Amino acid sequence: MYEIIDTHCHLDMEEFNSDRDEVIERSRENGVKAIIMPSTVKEDFEKEKSLCDKYDLLFYMVGVHPHDAKTANSEAFDLAQKHLKNEKCVGIGEIGLDYHYDLSPRNKQRDVFYDFLDMAIESNVPVSMHCRDADDDMVDILHSKKDLKGVMHCFFGSEKLLKVGLDLGLYFGVGGVLTFKNSILKDVIRDVPLEFVVFETDAPYLAPVPKRGKRNEPMYIRYVIEKMAEILNEDPLKISKIAFENSKKVFSLDKI
Ligand SMILES: [Zn+2]
Repeated sequence: MYEIIDTHCHLDMEEFNSDRDEVIERSRENGVKAIIMPSTVKEDFEKEKSLCDKYDLLFYMVGVHPHDAKTANSEAFDLAQKHLKNEKCVGIGEIGLDYHYDLSPRNKQRDVFYDFLDMAIESNVPVSMHCRDADDDMVDILHSKKDLKGVMHCFFGSEKLLKVGLDLGLYFGVGGVLTFKNSILKDVIRDVPLEFVVFETDAPYLAPVPKRGKRNEPMYIRYVIEKMAEILNEDPLKISKIAFENSKKVFSLDKI
């Protein structure tokens, strides 16, 4: 069986309220060893912490999504810092830039992103980064952050992000997008060294083919692993094992 860590799964969202127990149980039965939940707003931190107390499989991250950057006040930063002392809190995310929807002013997005990156470097924890239609600003900011570790979440195949990520030794979060018919990631994935691949769902979003359009969940990562194996002409078990070890390493999940 595959060994899987879902490095980015919004399992705290209401889409899972009616059957979270079953989703976690199915994950466990299908080789999922850990599920990491990113936060989008500060109100998520405590909610995710209590889910982590209930399920050993779960871990969480603290951060403010670029959509919600306008809500990121000093209280959010203080609270994030506090949560980072919790052993189930394994990083900062999701943070980044989203100029596609522009739900928060761009200068505010950049400030919040920048400050969370500094927090990650000072606290020596990884980040989970979101970037949409903001590659140039992302690259500029990342080039000023040499000691950063973490994941380029929802990597969809941008050459610019690939280059800066490889320069900095970042990991690439590969999910359902790889299985989509017109995805450029199918070609770009050959240029991503397996040593820098981790898997993720971004559930409930972005379910892979053949579940596309449905609610995503951690056990569907197997479709992404199998797609990658097909593209690279590699053994899927080998791919899952490498990505599993990569995920353990970047998020310091030593006990799994
Ligand atoms: Zn996400």
